Amino acid sequence: MLYPAELRGLMRRMIIGIAVVSRSWEQGFRRPRDGRFSGRLGYAQRMHLLLAIVLTAVFLPSQSEQADGGATGSVVVAPEFEVIVLGRAQDGGLPHLGCERSCCINARKSGRLETPACLGVRNLETGRMLLLEATPRIETQVALLHELTGASGRPRAPVDGILLTHAHIGHYAGLIQLGREVASTKSTPVWATPRFCGFLRTNGPWSQLVELDQIDLNEITPGTTDGVKKPVAFEPLPGLRVEAFRVPHRDEFSDTVAYKLHGPSKTVLFCPDVDRWDAHEGLLDTLLEGVDVAYVDATFYDGRELPGRNILEVPHPPMIRTMELLEAVGRETPGRVRFIHLNHTNPALNDLDLQDEIRGRGFPVAEVGERIAI
Ligand SMILES: [Zn+2]
Ligand SMILES: [Zn+2]
Ligand SMILES: [Zn+2]
Repeated sequence: MLYPAELRGLMRRMIIGIAVVSRSWEQGFRRPRDGRFSGRLGYAQRMHLLLAIVLTAVFLPSQSEQADGGATGSVVVAPEFEVIVLGRAQDGGLPHLGCERSCCINARKSGRLETPACLGVRNLETGRMLLLEATPRIETQVALLHELTGASGRPRAPVDGILLTHAHIGHYAGLIQLGREVASTKSTPVWATPRFCGFLRTNGPWSQLVELDQIDLNEITPGTTDGVKKPVAFEPLPGLRVEAFRVPHRDEFSDTVAYKLHGPSKTVLFCPDVDRWDAHEGLLDTLLEGVDVAYVDATFYDGRELPGRNILEVPHPPMIRTMELLEAVGRETPGRVRFIHLNHTNPALNDLDLQDEIRGRGFPVAEVGERIAI
């Protein structure tokens, strides 16, 4: 017979068990080296996960219980959302229009496809889902999101909302697929900065999406990374608190933001484009503050992809600079900072040995299909 104290202990172990399993879940979607995604969990994998939950709950040693219920009162909170990587390339993807280097010649031959940086977010209970970015490959990415989450039957509302970082084509041009020629959505909520919303309202073909109420624009209030202006948090899905921070970037048609997604158990940063980390004091610290997993700009590796140009003058922090600045983070919390938005020429996108080396330093390149429970 279970007494109330034992019952509480068992419930606590169940919560810890689910947290442990959710960690293995994050690691559970690794794309095989041939570059093809393996798809949904099979029956055997699902049974394995279920067994792991039960075994962890029953046999987890009591020390964990004490640590969890210690004097600090820290409690493991169950995640309510999952963040899924749907794309990890720079705006032009791979193969890249017009590229005749080996990166894209090989990709065309093998049929390999890398789509622009994009995250999906899903409420684990209700199935409501968001996209971070509407890339030119939005169809492929939403289809993958639906496949991975078992979603179906939503032709006019493929997602429940879209968050946009800035008006460069790899980040928003996919909005056009929501128009009357294609999905013809009804009031899909879109979150962007006031300047970006103004651009969409006043320039075709985007303005037609607004006029026909295919998208419903929501203006966000970003904070600054110098700590002067705090962001105003918003909830694109109930229970998911989001903050935006302005980051320095080529701002022709809009300004540029990075997003922090705060779930009940974890926080994820999405910062696919930024000119430099040292634009001002505290930029990187502000972005990483309170963040469990950070997806950051990895457009270029070290400049070898840009022969004849000085990497210091290229408006993206090279991966080697990011790893140098965050060396201690990589060592102490490997996997916390993950690379995304890789240019088609970036050797870290195409050289698996280099990927292993970077991972060994604590900085994995994001894999399409990887999941973080938050
Ligand atoms: Zn970009
Ligand atoms: Zn190429
Ligand atoms: Zn950009």
